[in-house]
Amino acid sequence: MRDLPPRVGHTLPRDAPVREGGSHPHTPGTLTPTSGSMGRTYLDMEPESLRRSQLSSMNSLDSPMSPSRPKSPWGKFDPYDSAEDQDKEYVGFATLPNQVHRKSVKKGFAFTLMVAGESGLGKSTLVNSLFLTDLYKDRKVLNAEERISQTVQITKHTVSIEEKGVKLRLTIVDTPGFGDAVNNTDSWKEVEDYIDQQFEQYFRDESGLNRKNIQDNRVHCCLYFISPYGHGLRPLDIEFMRALHGKVNIVPVLAKADSLTPAEIKRKKQKIQEEIEQFGIHIYQFPDCDSDEEDEFKQQDRELKESIPFAVIGSNVLFETKNRRFRGRMYPWGVVEVENPAHSDFLKLRNMLVRTHMQDLKDVTRETHYENYRAQCIQNMTRMVVMEKKRSLYSRIRESASELPMPLAPVDSGTERLIWEKDEELRRMQEVLQRIQEQMELAHKDGF
Ligand code: GDP
Repeated sequence: MRDLPPRVGHTLPRDAPVREGGSHPHTPGTLTPTSGSMGRTYLDMEPESLRRSQLSSMNSLDSPMSPSRPKSPWGKFDPYDSAEDQDKEYVGFATLPNQVHRKSVKKGFAFTLMVAGESGLGKSTLVNSLFLTDLYKDRKVLNAEERISQTVQITKHTVSIEEKGVKLRLTIVDTPGFGDAVNNTDSWKEVEDYIDQQFEQYFRDESGLNRKNIQDNRVHCCLYFISPYGHGLRPLDIEFMRALHGKVNIVPVLAKADSLTPAEIKRKKQKIQEEIEQFGIHIYQFPDCDSDEEDEFKQQDRELKESIPFAVIGSNVLFETKNRRFRGRMYPWGVVEVENPAHSDFLKLRNMLVRTHMQDLKDVTRETHYENYRAQCIQNMTRMVVMEKKRSLYSRIRESASELPMPLAPVDSGTERLIWEKDEELRRMQEVLQRIQEQMELAHKDGF
């Protein structure tokens, strides 16, 4: 099991005093007689044995028959439950992951997924297929005429899903109108603003009083839908991804993969991968797996990385055969199964999003994208404070200079002194200019 912590067991030397002729093995924490019948006194004992002896006697005072370890609250998840661990002494910190797990489960999880790409590429169908819900019940699909003048709008749908006692608050952010208008210049701007607004809100909440109950609405992942009908990436795709790759984890998907043959999918994927590289687009990078991972896991990891962009198929139609139900798309030549790995990368995408990389997507959002935003914010705020301070300092100097006969206001730094001198020079030149202008006007009046 990959996610179980390594067993931590430090076995103490078994040289502690044992009952004379004692046949029972020493079980930590159980009564260890230390009476004179043993023929040894505390003074004869090694320090370690003495300490353990004292511990044993203290234990015996508290609860004469207490078991070696308290009954585990972890049930079958107790990492010390195996038979071979029963005669070893442990502190017990291998249960720390369980404690974290229990706390997280109690709190529930939140994840925000954005879907972007022109309308009709199957975004809503894929989201419904991914999370087995109907998130777009009240969606209004625009006709062609309405779409001409359509601007990008951001819509948000939130559902709470529960599986085996684990709650997930899933938010889907859609970008209807993106890429639909005749002129799509800067249509990514709305999306960028939305992502920034979520960062800003989080930044405010974090600096506020109620930091404990912050609702995290930051966008953790953006599925970017690439049309299967083009030759690789379109200029709009490149523009979008380049504009947003520093703010959100972009995962590109090749939409409606059932409209392409396997050979076409392979070629398109390769072309898109090359273009991503060529145009310096930084899509979400799957973390490297450790060298000590199992071979099967390494293989899965390699396949996942090579699958980019995921060729996906979505469907809201359920088929039922004798022994199973599945989502699929029916064609005259047969049925395409959404979850069949031979037909699409749908399962890979879902496993990546939900089972294997959800936490990493959140971590990268927090540690990289949000941190960049925060650093930028703090830098801007500091710059504004410094500018404000300087401005008030200059106005104070100017005020005091007009009161003093000698312009010798003390300035603490060389630069500020230089600026102040230049200001003075400018003021003097303005005065001279004004005097010349007045003389000229006077001369004009006198008829020269
Ligand atoms: P959206 O506007 O991007 O949300 O697209 P929709 O999910 O509304 O899908 C638009 C149309 O494409 C609908 O008729 C869907 O049934 C169809 N569609 C969705 N996914 C797929 C797919 O994977 N393959 C094919 N061939 N059609 C799809």
